[in-house]
Amino acid sequence: NPLVEIRGMCKWYGDFSALFDINLTVAEGEKVVVCGPSGSGKSTMIRCINQLEAHQKGTIHVDGVEVTPDMKNIEQIRREVGMVFQGFNLFPHMSILDNLTLGPIRNRGATKAEAKDLAMHYLERVHIAEQADKFPPQLSGGQQQRVAIARSLCMKPKIMLFDEPTSALDPEMIAGVLDVMIELAEEGMTMICVTHEMGFARKVADRVVFMDEGEIIEVAHPEAFFGDP
Ligand code: ADP
Ligand code: ADP
Repeated sequence: NPLVEIRGMCKWYGDFSALFDINLTVAEGEKVVVCGPSGSGKSTMIRCINQLEAHQKGTIHVDGVEVTPDMKNIEQIRREVGMVFQGFNLFPHMSILDNLTLGPIRNRGATKAEAKDLAMHYLERVHIAEQADKFPPQLSGGQQQRVAIARSLCMKPKIMLFDEPTSALDPEMIAGVLDVMIELAEEGMTMICVTHEMGFARKVADRVVFMDEGEIIEVAHPEAFFGDP
């Protein structure tokens, strides 16, 4: 049973075609890396999966449920699809712990204590537990991105989407974030990652999707792109 199934998806802005006839199936546990030049539609494609962008044609299914612009449907899909962006979007005036515990987890009926346990569990997983009481501006960009990943994981998503999670980071911060993503991958998380980090792609990708001008022009195993390690 595929976790994500995209069939004949098209997306346009006015008369500009941003995505054309996208077909992509991602099985449970599979890791897909999406690469291609800037403006080729990578971000738009993954944003359609949780309807941060609405597609105009074709279908997207997440875990068997069709993704539609209906708000109820979108809420359900976003509980199952975690997303991490270039920017971390943490609330600067809340502690790291509060960034995780206030909001989505509580809204799902967890008690304060349950939300805190869950948050600490995921902060440990991304190696930030010692910083739980600090505020986002006190953390490095790499640490903040790991917090953003933990915040997503608190929702217990079935799949994680990453949109250039390391592109805004100083070079020395990148490895720590990639290590967390590699650990997630090794634990079996289903992932679609837009990234230029080819070392990461080679290490974790089951398939690499190459996009250009709004189309998927090639899908291959990483060795086919990068050669044997
Ligand atoms: P990538 O992630 O590969 O860099 P994007 O998915 O961000 O590419 O963008 C694909 C194309 O769609 C780009 O040419 C971009 O300028 C265009 N685009 C994205 N969002 C909009 C929008 N809201 N309105 C018009 N064009 C857009
Ligand atoms: P990123 O690559 O970090 O996802 P972008 O700079 O491509 O971000 O886009 C930021 C926002 O601007 C997105 O919401 C995107 O839809 C919008 N956008 C991108 N290109 C255009 C464009 N040509 N016209 C209008 N909006 C755009």
